[in-house]
Amino acid sequence: MTVRKELYHAHPNVLPYTVQVNLEAGGEFYQALKAMQSSEDADESGLCELLQVSRVSLQKREEEGFTLQVNKSEKCKCLRCRKLTAIVGRELCSRCNEVVASNW
Ligand SMILES: [Zn+2]
Repeated sequence: MTVRKELYHAHPNVLPYTVQVNLEAGGEFYQALKAMQSSEDADESGLCELLQVSRVSLQKREEEGFTLQVNKSEKCKCLRCRKLTAIVGRELCSRCNEVVASNW
């Protein structure tokens, strides 16, 4: 996967799920990415999983190819899964919240 290669090439010290990315892509590549993420911004999507980031903002653009912007995640580390996906002020991410709630 090109985007992932690009991400970890440009930021070799990035740990999984500690950053969020803004991704602009065009043409077929955008369609391929869109297939992995149904909404423009997502905290949990196939694309987040693939890139191992805590959030992806996906934007369409006219030109082919893609640009990638990497920012430090604003999220907190989830106490359960250790990903930076918990909403600030909460201890668990929404996925773990569901798991915990359903096992209650
Ligand atoms: Zn979690």
